[in-house]
Amino acid sequence: MPEDTDIAAQTCAYLAREVDLGLEFAPAPRPEAVAAIRTMQREGSERPVVEELSELVGDDEVRDASTLKVLRDVLGDCERCKLAGGRTNIVFGVGSSKAELMFVGEGPGRDEDEQGVPFIGRAGQLLTDIITKGMGLSRDDVYIANIVKCRPPKNRDPEPDEIVSCEPFLHRQIAIIRPRVIVTLGRLATQVLLKNRTPISKQRGQWHEYQGVPVMATYHPAYLLRTPSDKKVVWGDIKLVMERLAIPVPPGKS
Ligand code: URA
Repeated sequence: MPEDTDIAAQTCAYLAREVDLGLEFAPAPRPEAVAAIRTMQREGSERPVVEELSELVGDDEVRDASTLKVLRDVLGDCERCKLAGGRTNIVFGVGSSKAELMFVGEGPGRDEDEQGVPFIGRAGQLLTDIITKGMGLSRDDVYIANIVKCRPPKNRDPEPDEIVSCEPFLHRQIAIIRPRVIVTLGRLATQVLLKNRTPISKQRGQWHEYQGVPVMATYHPAYLLRTPSDKKVVWGDIKLVMERLAIPVPPGKS
């Protein structure tokens, strides 16, 4: 690993933390540094620098957006990354701007891309069941968003440059809503938000933190469609969330 890249990564991470602590002016990262860090990511470095960097590359308009509507307007007809070319609709997020509970998935699939609404396909139906039948809430009581707002081709994982382009919007959605709890759905959402590479099996069922917000990691509903025997594991994770939010378990659901 070239030493320059290391220094650039550390500087970007340092500046990101300073911005979080209230620094109002920070020099923009040099394009060469950004390119070097993205190459490092592609080459499989274990260091989670992309997520730190994304907070710097989000522009002032994103950081200044004070409502979800303003933020959606800033996103506009986004062409910030290559996913723009393949999408039908941007899937910004749905639910209450005052939600105490926020779910974060990976990115839209085909149904979501067609309708512009997150989690409405088969996996989405399972998430809806968890929210309604399991928790006794409605989708309007919570907020549902994804790491990337446009469908990756053939449902592949979002790539680091796509995450870098889009994450400032999720970061701002969370800052505007300030949920009491975030539930990350699956490996990618969990690793991106928590800035690590730890397997989901080791992170689920435990409390983590993102920008001061408690985070519960659990399996993705699409995984549960393939592995229904793990539904009880997810239900255990969801009950921890309900306990924290003092949501009573509906009768017959213990
Ligand atoms: N999977 C996700 O991660 N998000 C969606 O919106 C739909 C499926």
